[in-house]
Amino acid sequence: MTSPRVNVDGVDVSPDHFINGRRVASKHTFEDRSPLDWTWKLADVARGTSLEADLAVRAALTAFPPWAALGVDGRGVFLDRLANLIDDHIESIAHVECLDMAMLEDSLRLRVIARGARNFRAYAQLARDYEARRWSSNGTDNVVLRHSAGPTVVITPWNAPFMLSTWKCAPALAAGNTVILKPAEWSPLSCSLLMDLVDEAELPPGVFNVVQGFGEEVGAALVNDKRVRRISFTGSPETGRIIGEAAAKNLVPFTAELGGKGPFIVFADADLDAAAEKAAVMFDDAGQVCLAGTRLLVEESIFDAFVARLRVATSQHVLGDSRDASTTISPLIHPEHFSRVKGFVDRARAHGDTILFGGDEVSHQGLWFQPTVIEPLSNNSEVVQREIFGPVLTLQRFADEDNAVRLANSTPYGLSAVIYTSSHERAERVGQKVLAGTVWVNCFLVRDLTAPFGGIGISGIGREGGDYALDFYSDLTTLQIKEGTTHG
Ligand code: NAD
Repeated sequence: MTSPRVNVDGVDVSPDHFINGRRVASKHTFEDRSPLDWTWKLADVARGTSLEADLAVRAALTAFPPWAALGVDGRGVFLDRLANLIDDHIESIAHVECLDMAMLEDSLRLRVIARGARNFRAYAQLARDYEARRWSSNGTDNVVLRHSAGPTVVITPWNAPFMLSTWKCAPALAAGNTVILKPAEWSPLSCSLLMDLVDEAELPPGVFNVVQGFGEEVGAALVNDKRVRRISFTGSPETGRIIGEAAAKNLVPFTAELGGKGPFIVFADADLDAAAEKAAVMFDDAGQVCLAGTRLLVEESIFDAFVARLRVATSQHVLGDSRDASTTISPLIHPEHFSRVKGFVDRARAHGDTILFGGDEVSHQGLWFQPTVIEPLSNNSEVVQREIFGPVLTLQRFADEDNAVRLANSTPYGLSAVIYTSSHERAERVGQKVLAGTVWVNCFLVRDLTAPFGGIGISGIGREGGDYALDFYSDLTTLQIKEGTTHG
């Protein structure tokens, strides 16, 4: 059974799952609304259960052997074709994702969706380029072989759903695994569009499936399924723990990219204009960016000069409709998330933290929240220690390098860090001491897809990116042949 496709502001989108190469409806649906106007219902989306989870795992299991047998070159043909199709459909995917999660349409159109195509292209090539490690030791010739692992469950969050999903699914598919993707229920539509392209690219049925629905329902059914051989998750540490338990129970390798609370450290020798401008970039996408440096740590001697510049840079932001090119700050994704962000700010105020600027919702009808900077009473303030995932930064001062590093490493998170300094020596010295999966110096969000990516502490388990991801999605075998074994 399939449901009629829905017209989402000019783009036809299926509200159904995509299982075994076909659209599949569910008995129940859930409402998907636009953060740009909460009265605007975009679609009633299929609400998967253990039934659809089972169908999808069965399909992925059946499709696995022939997909794995195709080898890197055979699979690469399909993945390159899919990448080209994504490039051809950037406009429509960007438009739907903008309506669905309210990320700025221009940024989706010019940057984010194209990264989805790059993910498939890059991983298809990296898998082809793999050179097995070969060496001799202990009287044997050794070689490390990569085998495809099996059906892989990928669970993704609501922010940048298309890019983040492709970032995880591309290496899994390139490694020869079949995939069941469960996108977040707050922004499910762009991944449905991806399945139209999977169909058009003629990936064999069952190789790449999407099931829609709630995490505690269909998500839980998927991650607890014993037939699944890899689980890859991006989302909050709380959900990461739950999924990690399921993975541990079934002894399934599990990777998790979780929340962040990155420090943004500004030393006195930094280019202050550049640092303040970049700090104001942390409000982009309404701060719903795991990698953002949300704890501003500023050297005492330039504190006032930096804050003056930050105030100016922040005042340039324009809150508005994410479809308008002039808008720089979109609404938050969902009323529930809006209340969560506002709750942090309200509690900070009540607790005695100083709201330096911002701090208010903009309209009671809309989901916009002002860019906000809070000077906390102490490093223990909740706003310093917990991820807010909204346009809220904290601002603290430090006396010297040691003090900066201590503050930087004082939360349980460790996803990313940003450092501004003009000294290369300091960059190396501090960069080595800051506990974060990625440390950017005098830049932000510059990504090389072959670099390891992940978090320390409660920010994640394992590394994705380049060969790290391909290794994770593969079973590695060490083949040892006694030296002198004759050929033929
Ligand atoms: P979330 O943990 O609430 O949900 C993420 C996904 O998990 C959703 O698809 C949800 O349906 C699913 N889920 C929930 N419970 C489940 C269960 N019991 N079993 C299986 N699946 C379940 O996170 P969110 O609110 O969607 O996303 C925001 C979080 O994601 C933030 O913490 C953010 O920092 C993090 N994030 C991290 C990265 C990264 O690369 N490290 C990137 C983006 C977002």
